[in-house]
Amino acid sequence: MRKITIIGTGYVGLTTGVAFAFLGNKVICMDKDEEKINNLNKGIILIYEPGLEELLTSVKNNVEFTTDIEYAVNESEVIFICVGTPSREDGSIDMSYFKEAIGEIAKVINGYKVIVNKSTVPVGTADWVKEEIKKCFKGEFSVVSNPEFLREGSALKDFLEPDRIVIGVEDEIAKKIMSEIYSKINAPKVITDIRSAEMIKYAANAFLAMKISFINEIANICERIGADVKKVAEGIGLDKRIGPYFLNAGVGYGGSCFPKDIDGLLMIANDHNYDFKLLKAVAEVNEYQQERFVRKIVDTLRRENGNTVAILGLAFKPNTDDVRKSPAIRIIKRLIEEGYKVKVYDPKAMNNAKKEFEILGKLYLDNICFCDDPYETVKDAYVLAIVTEWSDFLKLDMKRVKNLMYKPYLFDGRNTFEPKEIKRLGFYYEGIGRKSF
Ligand code: NAD
Repeated sequence: MRKITIIGTGYVGLTTGVAFAFLGNKVICMDKDEEKINNLNKGIILIYEPGLEELLTSVKNNVEFTTDIEYAVNESEVIFICVGTPSREDGSIDMSYFKEAIGEIAKVINGYKVIVNKSTVPVGTADWVKEEIKKCFKGEFSVVSNPEFLREGSALKDFLEPDRIVIGVEDEIAKKIMSEIYSKINAPKVITDIRSAEMIKYAANAFLAMKISFINEIANICERIGADVKKVAEGIGLDKRIGPYFLNAGVGYGGSCFPKDIDGLLMIANDHNYDFKLLKAVAEVNEYQQERFVRKIVDTLRRENGNTVAILGLAFKPNTDDVRKSPAIRIIKRLIEEGYKVKVYDPKAMNNAKKEFEILGKLYLDNICFCDDPYETVKDAYVLAIVTEWSDFLKLDMKRVKNLMYKPYLFDGRNTFEPKEIKRLGFYYEGIGRKSF
């Protein structure tokens, strides 16, 4: 049993804290957001992550929530930094939350600590952390890089049953402590130098994004040659050298990690005078894939003299309420800019999406209608676009959907439906990389 502090109690921090408590540790979760901490102290989780609230209830005697950084740092020997590292408008990494957290730790650190960078941070950050702490604290401490690979929607499972655990560590005491902390998790441990650990995170996300952009380009060619990308993906994915994952053609990747980590790695490469051509193309293909989807919808609306689009799915993927860099938000924004009205529904992400459009402003709020259920959403629409593959959408009474729509055009941005079956119901159907209409 160890005492562990988590700084930053968002998707990663809260999952990490609750999971470590479940593994028998005493955990202090610290966040500067008072509202978040007050709610957590009442057992209320403001994010949607399957199983998290239930597990928190069962381990509540092992977890404390606080906004007091001094207490959080002094009480534990191991401090995990899990604050956000979003990207700025220009694609560079916004390290302000991370720097703020390190600055606070430096002010209050009172003895030996292992400071663990779990946030995704540029290569070389651990060296910077060491320098910053040394400016204020003359005692011993260790800095470790332990990037996180969990996925929202299956965060707890991913944390407790990961494919691997990466630990970048350069001293024996920290290595021993980190190995012990993770000893109850049965997964290969990649113990390496700190810079390699920092790079592994970026390289992993870049590779996965590359697979998505690759299959999307194959899909676009499939549409032209009359092939079915689902079968192509199955056919190549069974090759063990390729693997079946991340080969779902669609409207591209989004979320709080892939877009920013791709931009981040491009920045890192650029800062070191390396032109990462392949990764630039990955990002470009992803942008194009979303715009291409918008163009198809707009062309149909123009042809039909239609004005309303129904969008099902706002979260960047199913089983989360997270809409950060969600393809749905961008697609809706573009449709409104093209002069159309958009009706939207998502099982969990309505509130977060509302906040995004409030930030975007009046033009968007005036032209978007947040609906209470999918049937209300599709009523009188000329086009229905599926943008997030929630399993709930597969359970819809599609006959009823068709009858409610003004025109039954269905653009399936995630290849949720089987073209033959859905066309039989009378829809004009178009998936991604599959035979259309
Ligand atoms: P998040 O935005 O959900 O949570 C970050 C939390 O940090 C917020 O609650 C915020 O209030 C808090 N915070 C910010 N500054 C603080 C400070 N100075 N002191 C205390 N708390 C502070 O972020 P997230 O999605 O959990 O991501 C965290 C990190 O993990 C990022 O670097 C991200 O790239 C990485 N990551 C995220 C995922 C994911 O799926 N979300 C997966 C792997 C890695």
